[in-house]
Amino acid sequence: MIDITLLGTAALVPLPQRSLTAALLSCGGRSILFDCGEGTQTAANRANVSLMKVDMIALTHYHGDHIFGMPGLLQTMCSMGRTETLYITGPEGLKEAMEPILKLVGWTSYTITLLELAPEGLQLSELGTGWSRESKLTAFQTEHRISSQGYCFTLSRAGKFIPQKARELGIPENQWGLLQKGTSIQVGNTIIQPEQVLGEPRQGLKFVFTGDTAVCDTLIKAAAEADLLICEATYSENEQANLAIEHGHMNFAQAASVAARANVKQLWLVHYSQMIDDPQVHLHNATDIFEHTVCGLDGMKTTLRYQK
Ligand SMILES: [Zn+2]
Ligand SMILES: [Zn+2]
Repeated sequence: MIDITLLGTAALVPLPQRSLTAALLSCGGRSILFDCGEGTQTAANRANVSLMKVDMIALTHYHGDHIFGMPGLLQTMCSMGRTETLYITGPEGLKEAMEPILKLVGWTSYTITLLELAPEGLQLSELGTGWSRESKLTAFQTEHRISSQGYCFTLSRAGKFIPQKARELGIPENQWGLLQKGTSIQVGNTIIQPEQVLGEPRQGLKFVFTGDTAVCDTLIKAAAEADLLICEATYSENEQANLAIEHGHMNFAQAASVAARANVKQLWLVHYSQMIDDPQVHLHNATDIFEHTVCGLDGMKTTLRYQK
């Protein structure tokens, strides 16, 4: 199960009713914040979620509307007495981008670890902070005016436990639970791997957050079959397609075309230009292309669940 809270949907400038685009992912008590613009802290308060225990902040790029909330948030975590390590990830140039921010924040009660993700992604359990073995975060390159990346969070799902196989291997019933949880066990002199008593892996869950980007193949590939795609849609009008490309952004129709080509289950539009007063008015430009599109609104929440 993955909980998603959309903290903001604005581009460039925070508006009274629209915070800068950011989202919080929670899974099994752990959480990741995607982007942190000016006002993301208060947006979280309004959405009734806490950022104080966030394990990781995943930055899509270093434009101000995606990172200027960082000093404030890091400072608040300190004043709340945080002690757990905070991981911060981002595209190339992370160290340089974070240097002035960390200097501004000064001493913290917790360790901040900067972490660039390897191309194969990060098995989050490797951080040793309690993430499930099934959770993985991968970054993929996007097409913006500066170095940028989107993120794909997946929760894989093991196959069904097969009691008959466990009996055949002579595994005592009180150890079945460990294997079901993905832990290998020892019976006599033999190590039994969970795969030996589980069926074929079942369909897991996938969440994708784009950051700022024009339409690009890496995004379509990363978003393939996602349960939820939160995609930037800076411009609303079809006539703004070229303008969007020029600025490394998308319009509603382009975002919908990404969702359609990636065959996602659901698309949420975000990162609206301040020229867009009410995104709902323009939603048809997206739904004409991809039916399962909704306009992201600040504070919107959903829970992604395994299909039976
Ligand atoms: Zn932006
Ligand atoms: Zn940008």
